[in-house]
This record gives sequence, C-alpha cells and structure tokens, in this order.
Amino acid sequence: MKARLALTCVAAAALMSGCGGEAPAAKPAADANLGAAAVNTERLLKADSEPGSWLLTGGNYHEQRYSLLDQISDANVKELGLSWYADLDTERSQEATPVVVDGVLYVTTAWSMVKAYDVKTGTVLWEYDPKVNRAKDADACCDVVNRGVAAWNGKVYIGALDGRLIALDGKTGKVVWETQTTDTTLPYTITGVPRIVNGKVIIGNGGAEYRVRGYVTAYDSETGEQAWRWWAVPGDPSKPYEQPELAEAAKGWKGENYWKIGGGGTVWDGMAYDEQSDTIYVGTGNGNPWNQAIRSPGGGDNLFLASIVALDPNTGKYKWHYQTTPGETWDYTATQPIMVADLNYPEGKRRVVMQAPKNGFFYVLDAKDGKLISAEKFGPVTWATHVDLKTGRPVEVPEARYEITGKAVIVQPTAAGHHNWHPMAFSPETGLIYIPVQIAAASFAGIKNFKINLEGRNTGTEFGAGASLCAVPGAKCGNIESYILAWDPVKAKEVWRIPNVAYGSSGVLATSGNLIFAGNHNGEFNAYNATTGEKLWTAPTQARVVAAPATYTVDGQQEIAILTGARGLPTGQKRISPYSGNNSRLMVFRAGGTGALPAEMPPADPNKLTVTINPPLLTGDTETVFAGEQAFTANCAVCHGPAAVPGAGSTAPDLRYSAILPFAGSWNATVRDGDLAQRGMPAWAATLPMETTNAIRQYVIKRANDEKAAQEAAVAAAHPTKP
Ligand code: CA
Repeated sequence: MKARLALTCVAAAALMSGCGGEAPAAKPAADANLGAAAVNTERLLKADSEPGSWLLTGGNYHEQRYSLLDQISDANVKELGLSWYADLDTERSQEATPVVVDGVLYVTTAWSMVKAYDVKTGTVLWEYDPKVNRAKDADACCDVVNRGVAAWNGKVYIGALDGRLIALDGKTGKVVWETQTTDTTLPYTITGVPRIVNGKVIIGNGGAEYRVRGYVTAYDSETGEQAWRWWAVPGDPSKPYEQPELAEAAKGWKGENYWKIGGGGTVWDGMAYDEQSDTIYVGTGNGNPWNQAIRSPGGGDNLFLASIVALDPNTGKYKWHYQTTPGETWDYTATQPIMVADLNYPEGKRRVVMQAPKNGFFYVLDAKDGKLISAEKFGPVTWATHVDLKTGRPVEVPEARYEITGKAVIVQPTAAGHHNWHPMAFSPETGLIYIPVQIAAASFAGIKNFKINLEGRNTGTEFGAGASLCAVPGAKCGNIESYILAWDPVKAKEVWRIPNVAYGSSGVLATSGNLIFAGNHNGEFNAYNATTGEKLWTAPTQARVVAAPATYTVDGQQEIAILTGARGLPTGQKRISPYSGNNSRLMVFRAGGTGALPAEMPPADPNKLTVTINPPLLTGDTETVFAGEQAFTANCAVCHGPAAVPGAGSTAPDLRYSAILPFAGSWNATVRDGDLAQRGMPAWAATLPMETTNAIRQYVIKRANDEKAAQEAAVAAAHPTKP
C-alpha cells in the first residue's frame, strides 16, 4: 500500500508543488510562525474578520460555515482548478472539515488520524495516529469516522474513536496530554469535533445504538483536567442525581430498563457557541434502546433525549432546553449541526439558534431563552402533522408509534434522518440556509422478547418486520431523493433545491462570492450560485464526497479544500488502481490551478491487450475452494465485491490482484491479525478459524486464475496466431 502512495505522489509532484509524504526538492526556510496554532479567544470571536484562516471546522463560533472571501465569485469561479492533492492512508469514510491557521491545514481522517500540511507547498509537516484498536470498529454505528480538530493556544485537539481526548503540539504533532473521556468497558465512541470556549475543551461521544448514557464533558485545555460533565439523561435513581434538572427529568422516565441499558441521549456532533449570552448549545441523541416501550414502558418525555440544550460553558450548568421529539422512538437525534445567527424578521433582528434534526422539522429558537419561534417541515414527515407553536410540542400521528400499536409501520423520516451530520451553511447575504437533505422511507417495528445484548446493538426494533409493507406497490420504501435545500429560515419555507444525481448527502460551504460549494455522491465537487442554485463549476473527485469544504488564503489568494472518499466508488467510476477502495484524498483548489488527478485504469484496447494479472497457481481442492466461496460470500463480498470482483458499491481492494495473495503467511497476517487495519481491513482471527481464512485465499486464487484465463482468451482473440 505504501508503494501506491509513493507512486501517486511522484506523479502528483511532477504536476504540482507537492504531495503528501514527499518533500519538495527545495524546501522553503521554516517559517517560525508555521504551525503556531496561536488561536485565542479574541481570534475565535473575530473569526469572520480573519477570512484568510479557517479557524474552526464550522468556520466561526456560530458554526455558519460562511466565509467573507469573495475573490472566487459567481463571476469567475470557472477559473478554479486543482492546486494540489494528497492521498490519504485510509479508505474508510472521510467526514472532516480542515482547520487552517498560521500557515498549516490540520485535518483528521478515518481512524481519528491527524495530518498537518503546509498550505503553501502541500507538504506533510507531521502526521499523528492515535493507534485506536481497530476492534473498536464494532462499537462505531456508522463507520470509523472523525469530523475534525480544534486549534487553540499552540495545540490541536482531537477526540479519538476509542474515547480519548488528545492535545497535540501544533508544530510537531507530539502528544502534549491525553485523557480517557469514557468508560472503556462500554461501547462509547467519539467522532465529533472538540469545541473550545474560554480555555475549556468540550467533547461529547456516541454509542446510543448500543448501551450507553450520553454526556458532554469539558477539560482544561492546558492540563487535560476535567472541569465539568453534563449528563443528558438520568441514571440509576437509587443514586444521587449529578444535576438538579435530572431529578425533574427522571419524572418523565419509566421502569428501569433505561438506566440499566444506558438511556442514550449522546452528544455526538452538533454544538455552537453564542458569545452574547456566553452559552454553548449542544444537541442530544436518540433513546437507547430506540423503542420507547422497552426503554421507558408507559411513555414519558424522556428528557433530555433529542433536545437542543443550552449550557454555561464555564460550569456546565444547565440553562434551558428544547426537546424536538418527546419520547423519541425512531432514532430521531437532535445532534445535527446547530447554528447561531441574527435573522432579519419584519419586526426586527433576532438572535436565534437553528437546527434541521433528523425528525424532518426545521427549528428556529430564541438564542437567549430557547423560546420556539418556528418549526416547519423541510421534507415529507409522517410521524407528526405539525408542531404546535403554543406548546412547542409536535402533534403526533398515532400510527407512527409502532411500539404502542404493536404494528409495523412505514415512517418518514427514517432512522438516517432527512438531515444527518452533513454540515449545512448559512449566508447572511442571501439569508438562506443550505441544507443537505436526504429523503427516504422505512418501516419500523418493535422486537418481541427483548433481551439486553452486551455485545452489540440494542435498538429494540426489528428491521425486517416491515418488509411486507414495503413490498406493497407504491410503498416508496428506501432512498427516494436527495438534494441541497435552500431554506428561508425567517419565512420557514423552501426557496429552491439542487437535486443530486446520485443519492446521498454532502456538506456545504457558503461564501461572500455568492457561491455555495458542495461535493456529491456522483464523483464531483461543485460550485453553485448561492442566490439561484445554478451550477457554475464542477471538478471530478473520482470519489463520493460527504465532508464539507473549508476556504482560506495562501499569500493572499483564496483556496478551497475538501476531503473526498466515502462508502465505495461513485457509480461508473473506474478504479485508479485495483487496490483503490474509495479514492480518499485531500483536494485543494485555486484560480488557475492546473493539477489533475491520476488517470483512471485505462479501458482495454483490443489492439494492445496484455495479461495484467499474475496470480499464484491454485493448490486448493474443489471442496476447499467451495468452502472458501461460502465464507467469502458471507464475510468478504460486502466490501470486496461479489465473487471477488469489486463493483461500484464495493469499498475495498480487488483481492485478485493482491500482492500478498501468493503468500499464506502475509495473507493471514492481514486477514487474521489486522496488518492492514489502518487502511480499514479488520482482523478476523476472532471470527473465522484458520482453516476458513486459508480456504478464502484458495477461492480468491481460483477467481484470480479465472480472470487470468479470461484475459489470455481476450489476448488470443485480439492477436490470432497464424498456423
Ligand atoms: Ca442513532
């Protein structure tokens, strides 16, 4: 795998100024300020007036993902080209937005790894791998992702998948301190970005599909000492409640399953800070289990699930909350991105907190007291008819509560939400919010005879139970459509939408150049007119894009950076190499950029056909190959492709071309012991006996020889030998 990285970089270096891992020939004299990460409160409060940097993943404390840079605009965006790119050393999904400060671009990749690049040259200044035990994959509901770092006072901070909060030196990447923020015996994970307010690092966690109790914690930025912790749901009622509001909240919980299983309410993504009231807003997750009849038999609001909660960032003291989905039972988290903004209402300006959570309503709350201003559907919603603005509560559709009716039911949104973690952006100039929306429908049904599962998920629902409902013609289950929605938050109305060709969401950036930037699942990074949604510019990514971009300047010139690579290749995308699972990269664009991605694997030219595969001889007998096929289909095909031929949806390498295929020892070191775990290949030793992994190898050798025979036949047909 190293070889591919180096090759790509040599090719890239010929075209561009630099590439990950390869030092340019003439390294510029080290700038003393390079990597200073000299971020302080003043810089963060004035982040908008320093548009040459991208100081926080969300752009500013209000998490608007809006830049005042306008060098690249709707008038000249066509001049944008690739400046440089860097391949990433993992092919799991990339969800991070870079942070750019003091000449360095800091970004996290899958497996909580951190990279620091010199923005002038694209050179890697340092890399850091927290060496998360790859078995932790089992606790990550939705891939081993990470959404970025926070920079502060000479350091960058990362929450690692295994629950550690780690402070790194901004110049060297060396660990300054690290602390375990979770109970390592429980399936907690961290994928979210640390937020830093008044010298405190605030970090949440995930795991509410499994068996955890959600909370958010603040640590001293210099020492790593815990400053405060706020629990999102009440724990064991026989013990004192950690916070007075939990005693109140406990009145809306029933039975004992919730505190035995965990209750959920994890704070795994959205937060925003309002300096006017010195408040940090955090979003809380779904119930654990999802099924409320199991979690809290008899109902209740189950506070503080699925809520936007206002906390004092200095003490963690609760200020107010707004619960989006009382008695949540559909995995309707309110952890989606939270945004603070000043909106211009006809009666005057109001400072608000906004969120488009999974449940399909767009909420606008007063930032001071959490009073509900508006709550309108931003997509088709079937669990509630509307939100009563007087009570602030949703008016539910009774049939949607599968756990009460005992019947399977098709519900919109699904557990994935009409909007998930994919960052939305706000332009104060257009007044529009740009929301990555994904419309789907799915059935929900409760599980019979629920037992706590100590090893895996505890949702209390059954996924297959609604299959007959979805089989009805016109049921419209599955992924229906996805688009970028331009939403007027004052009028609480859709203005326009940009439909996606391929289903799936991608994060958005808005700029003062009257532009929005977003990737898609079709292998593109695009710019659109922020006022009209007209597509103005496109660049190929050779990969699905889910992350949101950042923008900043290098020597005064605007650049735009985006992470690419997620969940397999786009439909029709040819592999760059047989080993390329999703083409994970950092891509950087600037006006006049002339860089190019490496060429795709060339299509077969019938006149120049050669045999490109060189597999070892098949030594396994028919029974072994058959056993290998059974095991491959059950365990490997989902990533490596059916019959060992990766398709567009396959996320992992073409094993028929694997360099370790001839070597049983290397094969088992990878397959059994996790030698390539960093790239996303889990260790199977605990799951599959040696006999089985050896049989899988023989099956892949068989398939590679099948391919060799096919290639030889094609060559023979193209170059018939005369008798
Ligand atoms: Ca969830």
